[in-house]
Amino acid sequence: MVEVAIVGGGVAGLLTAHALSKRFNITLYEEHQKVGYPQHCTGIISTNTGLRIGKWIHRVTIARFNTYEVVHAKYQRRLILRFNKEVILIDRPRLEEHLLNDFLDLGHVKLSDHVTNVTSNGIVSGRSGSIKYDIVIIAEGARGILSKNLGLCDPMSDYLNGIQALIQCRNSLERPIVITDERISMNFFAWVVPRSENELLVGLADRGKVLDKIKHLIKNYIPMILGDKRDYKLIKYFGGIIPLSQPCRPVLGNIIGVGDAVSMIKPISGGGLYSISIFFEAMQEMANIEDVKSIDQHPSIQKLINELKTHHLIRKIITKIGGHHRLIEAVIKSGVNEVRLKDYDKLEIDGSTLLKVAPAILTLLKPS
Ligand SMILES: Cc1cc2nc3c(=O)[nH]c(=O)nc-3n(C[C@H](O)[C@H](O)[C@H](O)COP(=O)(O)OP(=O)(O)OC[C@H]3O[C@@H](n4cnc5c(N)ncnc54)[C@H](O)[C@@H]3O)c2cc1C
Repeated sequence: MVEVAIVGGGVAGLLTAHALSKRFNITLYEEHQKVGYPQHCTGIISTNTGLRIGKWIHRVTIARFNTYEVVHAKYQRRLILRFNKEVILIDRPRLEEHLLNDFLDLGHVKLSDHVTNVTSNGIVSGRSGSIKYDIVIIAEGARGILSKNLGLCDPMSDYLNGIQALIQCRNSLERPIVITDERISMNFFAWVVPRSENELLVGLADRGKVLDKIKHLIKNYIPMILGDKRDYKLIKYFGGIIPLSQPCRPVLGNIIGVGDAVSMIKPISGGGLYSISIFFEAMQEMANIEDVKSIDQHPSIQKLINELKTHHLIRKIITKIGGHHRLIEAVIKSGVNEVRLKDYDKLEIDGSTLLKVAPAILTLLKPS
């Protein structure tokens, strides 16, 4: 039987373990004692991503939304983002917990086993010694230490720091709010997501230090959003890295990368589960070792890489015009107050909205 090691028990590693467990002998290494922690993700995914991940999503769904509100700080104007298919909020740590529990009978799991080295010929060194595998899947997340050492990818060559706060409040919101304000995030945006009737997830991502920025965000926006200055309590901060480097070719001989470890993240929204779900679907089709080693040739993976490259190009244009807040400013100035997204993951907006906002965006692109 072909022996496969998976380094990392995050969502990418666990879904890959499930996908490959029917045909291969899997050993999953996770450095922590339990999966899902430390928490870093908001947990927003599209309906299609949820469908690809499958049965586990129903068990961890917290809420579903048809619309977002986008607030532009300078104009105090609200733009509605309407989705053709619902956006789902899931409980990320619980997703990993369910995936692990269901995998325990399908393969070997080494918890509290930090992998210190992986060689290009498949030797994995950890707490339990050095073991040779036929294939090693690197699913270590955004830190990308093994990825970089192996020459697979350097997800940290460009990145944002993401930070979130869990806030308890008396009355939560009906839908998520996206805030574009250059004082809070010059290179990205902030978000407020209702997690339950009395919990909010408040977050932002940006380059550099973000703790002061989230404090500013909570102090200046939460009372305004909730309409009552005293009505909330900060529970905890948590966060992580959002890789912004171009997606890498995920195969290097017997080494395969998946998830944040190979920078498979949507650079405009910071969503990573979209790519991971596409890998999961493709991995389920792998019949033998040669198929796994040529996963990068799979049509859906090639399509994904091209799509992410287009998103990087769009991100470059957004940066060139001055950031997300300038983009939203341009949309608001063109008189648009609702944008319908045909596909949340692909950022497809309807043609008539595109025609309305294009002139304003082109004006921003003109050299002054
Ligand atoms: C603030 C923030 C908000 C986000 N919000 C969203 C969102 O709403 N929707 C979305 O789709 N994406 C979101 N993302 C991105 C998403 O969280 C990631 O894309 C996703 O978690 C990547 O999964 P992964 O399995 O590749 O990595 P991780 O989830 O980071 O898992 C990697 C695992 O590998 C383990 N590990 C690492 N090194 C080793 C080692 N050497 N030995 C053993 N184990 C190791 C780690 O402990 C960890 O458990 C967000 C990210 C951030 C930072």
